[in-house]
Amino acid sequence: MRIDVNEPNSVEQFWDGMREAAAAATRHQDDDLYEAIVKIGRSALAQGVELVPSSGFFLLCPVCSALSGQRCINVPGHPLDDSRLHAERVELAGKAIRGEVPLPRPLR
Ligand SMILES: [Zn+2]
Repeated sequence: MRIDVNEPNSVEQFWDGMREAAAAATRHQDDDLYEAIVKIGRSALAQGVELVPSSGFFLLCPVCSALSGQRCINVPGHPLDDSRLHAERVELAGKAIRGEVPLPRPLR
């Protein structure tokens, strides 16, 4: 498979792959895998990969408690947009990946 880093949606594809890996870590209750994913995410940011809304899939949702890798569910007063993620989750993921807040544990 040819990888073109300048492809317009390569960043989306990167985070999409990360979401799938995070979902697998949740499914298998694998903390080590999850930590590896976070390391990759931080390293990608350091190399200039942008955060996109779907990076919110990294974390437990603080609004609806969707697990890492899972889509958010509807909660009264917290509308979901097309990304199927709560805005609070996207914001928290950005801060956590950038290291501004401690990373919430994915597995409870
Ligand atoms: Zn949510």
